[in-house]
Amino acid sequence: MKIGEYLRQGRFSISFEFFPPKTPEGEEELFLTISSLQELEPTFVSVTYGAGGSTRDRTRRVVKRIHEETGLTTMAHLTCIAHSREELLQILQEYRDMGVENILALRGDRPAGDFRPPEGSCRHGSELVQLIRDRFGDHFSVGAASYPEGHPESPNLEWEIRFFKKKVEAGADFSITQMFFDNDFYFRFVELCQKAGVDIPIIPGIMPITNFRQVQKFASMCGATIPQSLIDKLEPYAESPEDTLRIGVDFAIQQCLDLMEGGAPGLHFYTLNKSKATLMVYQGIKTAIRA
Ligand code: FAD
Repeated sequence: MKIGEYLRQGRFSISFEFFPPKTPEGEEELFLTISSLQELEPTFVSVTYGAGGSTRDRTRRVVKRIHEETGLTTMAHLTCIAHSREELLQILQEYRDMGVENILALRGDRPAGDFRPPEGSCRHGSELVQLIRDRFGDHFSVGAASYPEGHPESPNLEWEIRFFKKKVEAGADFSITQMFFDNDFYFRFVELCQKAGVDIPIIPGIMPITNFRQVQKFASMCGATIPQSLIDKLEPYAESPEDTLRIGVDFAIQQCLDLMEGGAPGLHFYTLNKSKATLMVYQGIKTAIRA
């Protein structure tokens, strides 16, 4: 199933993101997580890709296993910054041969140090989207990343939207956002995109908080604001995993309900390869909707 087509029909999407584990034990744990999340009948699941191409084989193997063993619609992330166009085309051809129909086209973070991209490589997410469309036509539904608070390299939101629009013009047919914790950023971003003539579905990325210090680190790396009111709730319990889970899940349930009420086309959960928090959030949403 192509995610862009599904969303264009106005259907609500639920999706889960995983990363490819480093060890066979980690991979088996991931497949236990997937099997417990499978009962929620997600629209699709996705597998991340290391920016420097470091997870090339692992991402491909996990995508293949999910696709073949679970039958779930699977989206492969692909980052272009460290690959030549030939390498990217080869990876894409492998996904095509597997029957994978969805790609999240990304630039990836620039590797630290004295990094030089390969000659003639795709320099931005929009160039990878274009490459996929030029070479594979409509075989893939192509997603692109978006940043309701602006990408850390973007000087302002106007800039952000200008280059986000380029990904859409190149052929991206849906987008998934960076995590955020204040829905006002999302709603404002969607409104600005609409004003700029960008009308693809923009799925909000949700990170249920299970570890306060870890989420603080992630948020500062990607420029996501954690509202002070949420910090005040979490900080006193930073050393208590049970309390952090309770507060994080309650917050995510309210966040998701508000996004759904505001017309978000779906919810994409950053699971960190664990099922517990996502299952709790999902149950909480269902209970609230039934009440
Ligand atoms: P781009 O679209 O290239 O944007 C990066 C910056 O360049 C922005 O500031 C943009 O405004 C600017 N820009 C874009 N085009 C131009 C242009 N033509 N001229 C000048 N400036 C321009 N990373 C991974 O390594 N692996 C993953 O699996 C992964 N999955 C992700 C999933 C989601 C949902 C999201 C939101 C992010 C993910 N990332 C992943 C992180 C992502 O790779 C980084 O945020 C990266 O720095 C930017 O990628 P991009 O495709 O958005 O880049």
